[in-house]
Amino acid sequence: MNVNIIDLKQRYLEERDDILNIIDKTLTSGSLVMTPEINDFEKDICKFVNSKNCSTLNSGTDALMMALWAMGIKEGDEVITSPISFVATIGAIIHVKAKPVFVDVDDDLNINTKLIEEKITSKTKVIMPVHWTGRICNMNKILDLAKKYNLKVIEDAAQAMGSFYNNKHGGTFGDIGIFSAHPLKNFNAIGDSGFLVSDNKDYIEKINVFKNHGLISRDNVEIFGVNSRMDTINSQILKYRLTKLENIINRRRNNVELYRKYLNIKELKIPECKKEEYNSFVMFIVQAENRDQLQKYLKENDIESLIYYSKPLHLHKAYKDKFGNDSFLPKSELLTSKVLALPIHQHLTEEQILHVCEKIKSFYN
Ligand SMILES: *Cc1c(COP(=O)(O)O)cnc(C)c1O
Repeated sequence: MNVNIIDLKQRYLEERDDILNIIDKTLTSGSLVMTPEINDFEKDICKFVNSKNCSTLNSGTDALMMALWAMGIKEGDEVITSPISFVATIGAIIHVKAKPVFVDVDDDLNINTKLIEEKITSKTKVIMPVHWTGRICNMNKILDLAKKYNLKVIEDAAQAMGSFYNNKHGGTFGDIGIFSAHPLKNFNAIGDSGFLVSDNKDYIEKINVFKNHGLISRDNVEIFGVNSRMDTINSQILKYRLTKLENIINRRRNNVELYRKYLNIKELKIPECKKEEYNSFVMFIVQAENRDQLQKYLKENDIESLIYYSKPLHLHKAYKDKFGNDSFLPKSELLTSKVLALPIHQHLTEEQILHVCEKIKSFYN
């Protein structure tokens, strides 16, 4: 039995007629960028997450960068964030010339809010928590600190589309929330796409000009910008897939429950979900003893698993070349040696998941 960690082909086959119709309709219309359909989709996002404004962009990475830019973050500023993330989180900070300042994670792989305050300096301008795997960080604590020290909050909610905390959608707690619709996220386009939301209209208006070359009309360049627009085709596919997102997340959450039920062993830790959390599970990351050997064993048994990631961000060459070895983050360094993402995608059968559980148990026996 073959078990894959992601199955985009299966997803396409399930939706093929609808997707081809959307593509056909858009191409037939002859309008592929900057069309009214995009604004329409932005309204759908606002409604889904309950935010006042949305700006569609061509990636989550650009959304992060533009959120920082819109806040005027610049050289000499510091942004507090987590070392357990995809590199884009700090790449965006570096590209506006600010410095990422890492705070170690807690057992759930999210930023440990108890350790944030000691990292705040006169240069700190933003706290950028990452809702890793779609689990919302302790936002109450982060918002308290932001208020106390007059800081902005940008949520890296790239993985948190469809995640809630006390019924509030991820990405809507802070000043700006950014999202990715990369093909490997639950809410995925057919290529790169992203967007951000904010209740502050000023940020969105600035970004809407910046993402379109800084043009305020066809012949008037207000500022120098970039080209980072979401294509109409992707906006229409996402509009369609937004109606399916709840169902997909439910199926993934059910799969996680199967693991909890069948995989009650001490060598493999499945982080708890608090009752306030409703997690999207873009990834299902367990913490395994003998992780590398386990992964090898699973592979020999045709079970795919992935390591997100084997290194925290402060240990990458690019970071060390720029900032030296300035961080010691023991929990991140320990947990990156244990993390393993297991297959939970929405097309798996219960039988497949039981098979994975059996193999994991036989490995440890
Ligand atoms: C995917 C991801 C990003 C980057 O999003 P892209 O759309 O691929 O640019 C940023 N942060 C996190 C946490 C992510 O998972």
